[in-house]
Amino acid sequence: MNPNVKIALIYLIIGSLWILVSDQLLLSLLNGNIPDTNHLQTVKGLLYVASTAILLYILVSRYYRTIHEKLRELETLNSTLKAQAHKLEATNKDLEQFAQITSHDLQEPLRTITGFLTLLDKKYKTSLDEAAQGYIQFAVDGAERMQKIIQDLLALSRVGRTADQLEQVDLNDMVKEVCTLQSQLINDTRAKIQCHQLPTVTAHRQALEQVFQNLLGNALKYIEKDTPPSVHITATDLGDSWKIIVKDNGIGIHEEYYEKIFLPFQRLHSSSEYTGTGIGLAIVKKIIENQGGHIWVESKPGSGSTFYFTLPK
Ligand code: ADP
Repeated sequence: MNPNVKIALIYLIIGSLWILVSDQLLLSLLNGNIPDTNHLQTVKGLLYVASTAILLYILVSRYYRTIHEKLRELETLNSTLKAQAHKLEATNKDLEQFAQITSHDLQEPLRTITGFLTLLDKKYKTSLDEAAQGYIQFAVDGAERMQKIIQDLLALSRVGRTADQLEQVDLNDMVKEVCTLQSQLINDTRAKIQCHQLPTVTAHRQALEQVFQNLLGNALKYIEKDTPPSVHITATDLGDSWKIIVKDNGIGIHEEYYEKIFLPFQRLHSSSEYTGTGIGLAIVKKIIENQGGHIWVESKPGSGSTFYFTLPK
């Protein structure tokens, strides 16, 4: 029961009981000697006010104590949460720093390996047999792949760290720019990219361009052989945010992988089937979440995939 209802009820009951029994009670207390009726009324009134005041005091202090205890609990919880958030932030910073330093430092020896392998291949190509040349090629491919992974890891650790300012970005222009960057692949695959009146959004330009590059790149890559890619980019106004939709006609994704593909290094295919490092969508997710939105996918194997992401207005 609500405290205010409880207090009103107690007040009502005590008041009614007092009206009904107070005369007899006072008469028995004063042994029937009552000076006059006016005095009796005053004594009755005073006793009633005193008893209700005591009762109210007890009830209010009880509720005050409960509220005070709850407040103390909330304060403790709040400070625990603050301490945990602080710890998480520090760990996150450490991790990002670690990723950046290691990937940066790893690039140097890797460049040396690739350089010397290429030199070996160039200088001794004629004196090496076919198997040895194949081994060198495998090693060069491996080193190049590792270089790409390191670069992607660096890009992932850099998300949200740039000094890039929020600005008004016309998505129609942005998609056009991304298409120009990927024009070679678009021509080679005879892809059709269609935009349907995209809005102007407030975002970090470079980061958002990276999102479209990755999503479009995947739509052009994960396609059945000899099927020209077809990509539709549309937007829906959700009131306080925009929902951007990138729909392709590719190989599709099974429902059990809808979440997994957004984690770093999670790939559903081998590099010989489709090239890649498995970091692209992790970067996309981090960028979108960094801008206050979220991203998800809906798809059916063999019937294409639709990627959705939101951007707050
Ligand atoms: P990468 O393309 O480098 O492997 P991503 O993080 O971009 O890395 O994608 C992760 C995985 O999600 C891909 O390996 C692929 O299996 C799947 N995927 C991503 N986009 C699509 C798409 N449009 N159609 C089908 N599968 C996709």
